Amino acid sequence: MHLLILGAGFTGLSAALRLLQKGHQVTIFEKEDSFGGLAGGFKLPNWDWTLEKAYHHWFTNDDSVLNLAQELNYPVIIKRPQTNVYINGEVLALDSPLALLKFPYLSFLDRLRAGLVLFYLRSTNNYSQFENIHALPWLKKYMGEDITKKIWEPLFTGKFGEYKNEITLSWFWARIKKRTPSLAYPEGGFKSFADRVAQEVKNLGGKIFLNMEVAELGQEAGKVYIKAQGKKYLFDKAISTLPSPIFTKITRGLPSDYIERVSKIPHLHALNLILILDKPFMGGTYWLNISDSNFPYLVLAEHTNFMDSKHYGNQHILYIGNYLPSNHPYLKMKGSELLKIFDPYLKKINPTYDGSLLSYQLFAAPFAQPVVTPNYSKLIPTFKSPLPNVYVANMDMVYPWDRGTNYAVKMGEEIARLVDQN
Ligand SMILES: Cc1cc2nc3c(=O)[nH]c(=O)nc-3n(C[C@H](O)[C@H](O)[C@H](O)COP(=O)(O)OP(=O)(O)OC[C@H]3O[C@@H](n4cnc5c(N)ncnc54)[C@H](O)[C@@H]3O)c2cc1C
Repeated sequence: MHLLILGAGFTGLSAALRLLQKGHQVTIFEKEDSFGGLAGGFKLPNWDWTLEKAYHHWFTNDDSVLNLAQELNYPVIIKRPQTNVYINGEVLALDSPLALLKFPYLSFLDRLRAGLVLFYLRSTNNYSQFENIHALPWLKKYMGEDITKKIWEPLFTGKFGEYKNEITLSWFWARIKKRTPSLAYPEGGFKSFADRVAQEVKNLGGKIFLNMEVAELGQEAGKVYIKAQGKKYLFDKAISTLPSPIFTKITRGLPSDYIERVSKIPHLHALNLILILDKPFMGGTYWLNISDSNFPYLVLAEHTNFMDSKHYGNQHILYIGNYLPSNHPYLKMKGSELLKIFDPYLKKINPTYDGSLLSYQLFAAPFAQPVVTPNYSKLIPTFKSPLPNVYVANMDMVYPWDRGTNYAVKMGEEIARLVDQN
C-alpha cells in the first residue's frame, strides 16, 4: 500500500516510521524546508546545537517521545530547572507544595485550599467530569477569589486572551496532572531530534519531499489524489497532520457539517521574540510565568538556564512568549517594534539587560494552540475523515492533554496502527 503523509512534524514523522516498520510504502510532503513543524528550529553559525523557534521541553513522564528517543539511541538530558512566577514586582518560586505553602501574597487559608485543590486534581483520573465546567469560575469557587485573581486569571488571560472565561476545567486538570518538576531535552535540540527521526524514516525506505506544499486533496477513481507544485500525485491512502483549518481548506468533497464542526475550535498564534544576550538575563530562573495582566507578554523562558550556554557559543537565550488571536497587531510587527514595547517590561525584571543584547530572532506560528472550550470532545476530528482512505491526526485531537511533541508521537503511532489494520 502506498501512503502519503501530509506534514513532517512529529505526528507525520512518527506515523511514517511505524508504517514503514509494518512494510508499507510511505511518502511525506512537507511545505517547509526542514523537519519538526512547530517544534522545528534553527542554528546560528557560532552555535553547536539547534534551538527551537518556540521554547520546548519534555516532562519526564512524556513516555511516548522518550521511548522513541530511546529506541533511536538518541541522548536525552534530564534536569530540574527553576520555574518561578513574577508577581507584585517580585520573582518568587511557585513550583512545589512547599513553595506554595511559603508563598507570601496569599492568606494561609488560601494556600491550604490551593494545595488541597491541586492535590485533588492531580489524584483524579476521570477528567470527563470536568469537561463541561468553566475553569476560572470553578477555581474561584474552590481555591478562592484572591488566588484566582492573582495567579490563575493573569495566566489564562495571557494564554487565551478573549477566550479566558471559556476554557474548560479539563484543560486545567491536564496541565496540573502532567507537569513534572524535572524536565527533559533532546541533546542538540528538538530540530536535531526531528532530523534523526527523519533519517530513520529514510533509512527504512520512506521518501520525504521538503518545500512541497499540498494545495489540494481529493478522491479520484478509488485513490486519493493531491496536487502540489502544479502536479497531481495518486496514493492509496493519505494521513493529514495539518491543522484542521488548512485540511478543510485544501480538501475537496468534505461534508459541510464536518467543516462546520471542526471550525468551531478557535486557534491562537504563538509569537516568540528570542533575545540573544552575552550575559544571563534572570539569574537562575528558566521559566518565569508573568502574573501581571499589564505585561505585554505571558512568559519568559531563559533556555540557557536549562541547557548550558556552551552549546550556543556561550551566548544566553531568552524567549519572550505570547499567544495571540489572528488579528492581533503584534503579529504584523517587526522584532524591533516588539522590542520597543517589551523593553520597559523587560527592564522591570533586569534593568540593564539591553547592554548585553547581541541580536534577536522573531518567529510566529499560526494554529499553534487550540482553544479548549466545554464540550470540546464533541468538536474534535476523528482519525477517519468523512472521505474514504483519508485520515486526520492533528494537535486538536490530543485532548484532554495540552498539545505537545509527546502526544504528536503517540498520535502518529496510533494512526499508523489504525491505517495498517484497515
Ligand atoms: C509556543 C509553543 C510552545 C510549545 N512547547 C512545547 C513543549 O515545551 N514541549 C512539547 O513537547 N511541545 C510543545 N509545543 C507543541 C509541539 O510543538 C506540537 O504539539 C507538535 O510539534 C505538533 O506536531 P504535529 O506534527 O502534530 O504538528 P506540526 O508540528 O504543526 O506539523 C504539521 C506540519 O505540516 C506542515 N504543513 C502545513 N501545511 C502544509 C501543506 N499544505 N502541505 C504540506 N505540509 C504542510 C507544517 O509545515 C508542519 O511541518 C509547543 C508549541 C508551541 C507553539
